[in-house]
Amino acid sequence: MQALRGTQDILPEDAYKWNYMESAIRRLCSCYGYGEIRTPMFEATELFQRGIGDTTDVVTKEMYTFTDRGGRSITLRPENTASAVRAYLEHKLYGDQQVHKLFYIGSMFRYDRPQAGRYREFHQFGVEVLGADSPAADAEVISLAYTLFQKLGLKDLVLHVNSIGCGKCRPVYRQKLIEYFREREETLCDTCKDRLEKNPLRVLDCKEEGCRAAAAGAPKITDYLCEECQAKFDALKRYLTALGISYELDPQLVRGLDYYTNTAFEIQYTPLGAQSAICGGGRYDGLVEEIGGPHTPSVGFAVGLERLLLALEMQHLIPEPAKPRHVYIAALGEAAVAEGVKIQQALRGEGVRADMDLQGRSLKGQMKQAGRSGADYTVIIGDNELASGSAVVKSMAEGSQENISFEAIPKYIAERETGVQ
Ligand code: AMP
Repeated sequence: MQALRGTQDILPEDAYKWNYMESAIRRLCSCYGYGEIRTPMFEATELFQRGIGDTTDVVTKEMYTFTDRGGRSITLRPENTASAVRAYLEHKLYGDQQVHKLFYIGSMFRYDRPQAGRYREFHQFGVEVLGADSPAADAEVISLAYTLFQKLGLKDLVLHVNSIGCGKCRPVYRQKLIEYFREREETLCDTCKDRLEKNPLRVLDCKEEGCRAAAAGAPKITDYLCEECQAKFDALKRYLTALGISYELDPQLVRGLDYYTNTAFEIQYTPLGAQSAICGGGRYDGLVEEIGGPHTPSVGFAVGLERLLLALEMQHLIPEPAKPRHVYIAALGEAAVAEGVKIQQALRGEGVRADMDLQGRSLKGQMKQAGRSGADYTVIIGDNELASGSAVVKSMAEGSQENISFEAIPKYIAERETGVQ
């Protein structure tokens, strides 16, 4: 049996890298005042159809949808924003009229074509600011992502920003776009031909070559923004400048999900090639209403953690994990093993890593194993040691050894530096 295509195991030698990223995320989110939310991995399919938009690639081609034994249509979450909004409404978080700042870390599922940086089960860290209309909120989430990458030491990231307008100005642009693509319809892929009338902005986001070529000269949304959207976009740019965050304007950036309004942004790391977007997000003022709640202007983003990890590895930015003091206890005979187990327990209680043989090895075999395991100290308990009540404690780095009474071993170890780095 093998893990399914597009999924991967994270083994112990890599798991610490994930903990490293997640600890940095949690620390930073707490400084920004974001509370963690954990929502179920599956939801009613309708939530995503309504939330993400039923002409998007995610909903039409990529969802893991199945009927459960009760006959309900269920979908493994392809992203977390719709679920966060569902939870926000279900628990009436809007009732206190406050801005709610949430973050999440977890697995998402999309039936994508697997390749480097693109998987079928992948992990996202994301934030959602619910109930904030001000462009200062857009600037805050961008600065959170930016600061995270900066704290992790990442270089050469590029922030792309755009405004995709609102319900007032986008229809005018939409019409222009339909007219433009109509004249080039033969170069579009079948999906885009189909969705041209319903959702022409999606063509700008299509990865097919013909569609990209057609999109290259398309009218720009930023030429059609209404006064209010233009003012918000200008304010966002001023905030970013004030925060010292440089950006590139990208009028083609529309993002793959339908719920965005006004701000859309992406943070890219070009060496990742085709999957260069590490972070994507924007404002979604209509989503909460779409899902049945009150008008709640909101903004958020999601970071792909596999891509973040790839970028960190490419720039050699993941420190080796801290190694606790490590003791191997070699014991021969039942009584010695019983004594060793007691010492092992006491050492572990002091935060020291303590290992013993679990495979019935000889004393010589255990000594070899101690060397292989990278232990700093080996504690040896044979018949003589049992009789005297003290064990041989050998420093593996120095090769020196001392006799230490059983009870004094945890203190003796605790007072010493780790020998092997
Ligand atoms: P989205 O939810 O589509 O806005 O994507 C946000 C971020 O999630 C992207 O910028 C990627 O970093 C990451 N991402 C999206 N889809 C995948 C995938 N199939 N595999 C790995 N990462 C992904």
